Amino acid sequence: MITSKIKKNELNDFYQSKFEYFRKVSGFSAVLIGLLEMSYFITDCQLFGRFAYETIIPRFSIILPVLLFWYLNPHIKTYKQGVHLYYLLPHAAMWCTIWAIWYLPNRDFAREGFIIMHFAFLAIGLAMPLKYHIPIHACLLLNIAISNTWNHYAAFSLMITLALPLVVGVSLMLYILEKSYADQYLIRKKLEISSVSDELTGTFNRYKIEELINKDTERFTFEKNTCVLMLDIDYFKKVNDTYGHDAGDAILKFVSTEIKSQIYGRDYIIRWGGEEFVLILVDYTVPSALEFAEKLRASIESADNGICPITISVGLCRYNRNETYHDVINKADQALYYAKEHGRNNVVNYADI
Ligand code: GH3
Ligand code: MG
Ligand code: MG
Repeated sequence: MITSKIKKNELNDFYQSKFEYFRKVSGFSAVLIGLLEMSYFITDCQLFGRFAYETIIPRFSIILPVLLFWYLNPHIKTYKQGVHLYYLLPHAAMWCTIWAIWYLPNRDFAREGFIIMHFAFLAIGLAMPLKYHIPIHACLLLNIAISNTWNHYAAFSLMITLALPLVVGVSLMLYILEKSYADQYLIRKKLEISSVSDELTGTFNRYKIEELINKDTERFTFEKNTCVLMLDIDYFKKVNDTYGHDAGDAILKFVSTEIKSQIYGRDYIIRWGGEEFVLILVDYTVPSALEFAEKLRASIESADNGICPITISVGLCRYNRNETYHDVINKADQALYYAKEHGRNNVVNYADI
């Protein structure tokens, strides 16, 4: 069942994803449209009853837009650029046809020729937002009307009344396709989010790291100064043993909520495992990250979580762009170990041990 509605702020991503998904089919169709336009030269010969040298140039001039498409297509990155290039082919084919019709001894079959053009628009429309498709496709009627001023189609009004329901029909098909793609898109998004989320705390899980690194070098992709914090709840086992596992879970949620309330949108909080969290602070110097960690430690120590007082220990390390994410997390872990060894409920910078 078609149920999905894409939120306004997600539309750009949605159209881009639709374009990337369908662009191969639409791109292949664009080239095919050009080749088929040339194949109509055979029909011209049949109409003339001889070699139709008059329509060679009109029919074969479609090669230029096809070559242009061939050259530019690999450089097209966004669906907005795609809209400009891809619709060039059905429109160019339309105008080559109009040009060829001018020479034809019998223009009656222009009607069929123009009807076939709707399939070309359908093939291109697969990859494009429907809101752009409708006006661009409707221009086909305009092309017919303009060219009628010199081609004088015998069945002009019939051509228009035949084209109109076809524009509506094709748009309806594309509407249904866009909606079903929206379903697929939203399900994929949901899966993507849940695959990097921790269910209990609502933070990210370890797999989130994959999105933050260059897979070949295993280095973080952040441009700004970055600090990594490894944070662990002190004597958490005791909380579980004394108050039960559910109370332990509640404390884990409390700690993650506390962290979330203090970090900025550009930072990341990852549940590394058990009661350990990794925080990635983007655009932080070491002193500001230390200040942040100290404030967080103090606020968790003094807050009433409804179960029992708890404290955390934090290991901190500045990220050096030449190292992998494993390196910096290991160093933060060593700093955390040092913090645990030296009394807990404290913050330790790796550079100081
Ligand atoms: P330390 O101060 O050295 O960190 O001591 P600790 O007791 O916190 O450390 P330890 O690693 O020995 O214990 C971690 C405990 O966390 C053990 C495990 O039962 C508990 N734990 C791990 N995941 C969960 C969870 O999802 N929910 C609850 N309630 N407990 C968990
Ligand atoms: Mg612990
Ligand atoms: Mg632990």
